[in-house]
Amino acid sequence: MFILSTAMQGGFFIEMFVMQKEEYRFGFDVYNSSDDLAPADRQLLETARDITQKAYAPYSNFLVGAAAQLNNGQVITGTNQENASYPVGICAERVLLSSASMIHTNVPIQTMAIAYHNLNGDSSKPVSPCGMCRQYISEYEERMKQPIRLILSGMTGKVYVIEKASQLLPLSFGSEDLK
Ligand SMILES: [Zn+2]
Repeated sequence: MFILSTAMQGGFFIEMFVMQKEEYRFGFDVYNSSDDLAPADRQLLETARDITQKAYAPYSNFLVGAAAQLNNGQVITGTNQENASYPVGICAERVLLSSASMIHTNVPIQTMAIAYHNLNGDSSKPVSPCGMCRQYISEYEERMKQPIRLILSGMTGKVYVIEKASQLLPLSFGSEDLK
């Protein structure tokens, strides 16, 4: 089915024929507080909140903690590690996944909780991975052939639960594109 669409180009309206429209949607669960989570999820989020204390973030004062539950029952953590040369800094998620890849090689991750403590302001709204981390997490899912659930929050307040991290990165670039 053809859909007629118009667009402005060089000051003129042009007509374009679009073959079809695609739509990307995903849903996620919202909890009012960590008290409403299942015990295992609440504990993982508390670990992520606690570990923010180990962040090295003297420049942003934005301390991020991540904690992941692996298929082998182990929990691994990460925090953001900044640097005076700002782009050198690494996000908590990628610190965690790099460690997981080395310490628990080829063990899939079931769930990753991410929290932050903003020393300059509010820490009560859920945080979400940056674009670079979305790319990294997405490939980790692909490598391990298992989706990673995300639990996103601050130190208090609402909690978002996303069933598959790569839902945050539609139309992503991946290893298949290099073949
Ligand atoms: Zn990041």
